[in-house]
Amino acid sequence: MEESKIQSVIDRVMSELGHREPAGRAGPLPPRRPVAERPGPSATPKHGDNLFPDVDSAVAAARKAYRDLQGLPVSLREQMIAHIRRTMRENAQPLAHEAWQETGMGRYEDKVEKVLLNANKAPGVEFLDTGAWSGDGGLTVVEFAPYGVIGSIIPSTNPVSTVTCNSISMVSAGNAVVFNAHPGAKACSNRTVQLVNDAIVEAGGPPNLVCAVAEPTIDTAGALMGHKGVNLLTVTGGIGVVRAAISSGKRAVCAGPGIPPVVVDETADIAQAGRDIVRGASFDNNIICTDEKEVFAVASIADDLKRAMCANGAVEIDARQIAALRRSIFTDRPEAGRHGTMNKKFIGKNAAVLLKEIGIEAGDEVRLVLAEVEQDDPLIFSEQMMPILPLTRVRDAYEGIEREKAAEHGFRHTATMHSKHLDHLRRMARVMDCSIFVKNGVSYDGLGYGGEGFCSFTIASPTGEGITNPISFSRIRRCVLKDSFRIV
Ligand code: NAD
Repeated sequence: MEESKIQSVIDRVMSELGHREPAGRAGPLPPRRPVAERPGPSATPKHGDNLFPDVDSAVAAARKAYRDLQGLPVSLREQMIAHIRRTMRENAQPLAHEAWQETGMGRYEDKVEKVLLNANKAPGVEFLDTGAWSGDGGLTVVEFAPYGVIGSIIPSTNPVSTVTCNSISMVSAGNAVVFNAHPGAKACSNRTVQLVNDAIVEAGGPPNLVCAVAEPTIDTAGALMGHKGVNLLTVTGGIGVVRAAISSGKRAVCAGPGIPPVVVDETADIAQAGRDIVRGASFDNNIICTDEKEVFAVASIADDLKRAMCANGAVEIDARQIAALRRSIFTDRPEAGRHGTMNKKFIGKNAAVLLKEIGIEAGDEVRLVLAEVEQDDPLIFSEQMMPILPLTRVRDAYEGIEREKAAEHGFRHTATMHSKHLDHLRRMARVMDCSIFVKNGVSYDGLGYGGEGFCSFTIASPTGEGITNPISFSRIRRCVLKDSFRIV
């Protein structure tokens, strides 16, 4: 095959896999994957009776499906997962569009990327390798067993992606799942649950292995947490739902909030850092928990960094404009050094909407509003979930690391550093102690989007599982055969 043809095959395969250009080469933003401006509706569910009027009936149906699955071969799980991946790839555009329309948050084209990322890279059955020891005492094997029925609470910010990755990991481990969506994203989340159910049934699996509460509320989430037929909870959301799950008395995998900081020091590739920070902080309009949320720039490179950011889709506003915008985007008047309450009206909106609020007309190609602020500005301490990125100057990397430790509130979620200085990188990794630490890349490289490794949008920092995978949803069981089966 001639070289150009080989390259075009590689490009096609990479693009189908959701591959991005590798980090480390500064350049303009790559063109987005082409998406239909108005895709048709997602597939009509064929076995769409897996939405239940109350928690009791949903848990009963999931429990039956779980029992049925116990009698089926493990290889069937591989088939089910393959079908789920294919269904989600086929419906990525319509589901992303439905999520964007229903929630009014984020960017449609970014949501397509999120769904494809999870459909392609959420970890499956291959994660569950049996461990074994053999010796004079015999043979011992360790296997991963399901918990049973998992109650999974879903956020509004990734309503399709989280159902996708949780279904893949939880079903891979042999569990059934009852989903409770966010009330403001229930249509797209529940549609995803229906299509995942279709995929499972078409692969030969039991119906209702994944199912959902048709009209989810905080009350139904609470009922799921307290239900005796639920063996494990998984919550993905803010601090309120994490606290509720932890105090439920059940074992819970908790994926809580993040305020991911970035430190850029004088040794960094500034052009690349500027580009990467804009990409990460503006991804789906900053509503993803891993998105960069505040920048600590060493003073000697701060101006160059701001220029690099503005060359890649950011628009800087001045102190007067920041003060005006702060009055709109916070519903309270947070004190210096404290976080504020963000105004829901602006959460997940495009940068152009924020700029319009202060009288600046801009197009939707503007990805991010850049605001240089003092170190104790409430913006530095808040999970803004909108495309305004505060940047503050620090004397050196050590001051940046110290400051960002405070700004992250001890969530230990995600942090990023742009530096070529090994001691700085090591110090930051140790001090931040986060589930995800990205060096010289975009925060989403840590989700396997460009960076290596698998993906999940349930990143459990409070309970320690980190980026969840089938083992996070498995009970570890040991079986011992004494004095036999050693063959050497
Ligand atoms: P949210 O906390 O408002 O809602 C999340 C889910 O929890 C919803 O289904 C909601 O109905 C439910 N819920 C909220 N309070 C509850 C309570 N007291 N009892 C029972 N259920 C409750 O969050 P959101 O706005 O949908 O999502 C954004 C938040 O989630 C951000 O803080 C973000 O950082 C976080 N998040 C974290 C991860 C992660 O992997 N760590 C992933 C996505 C989102």
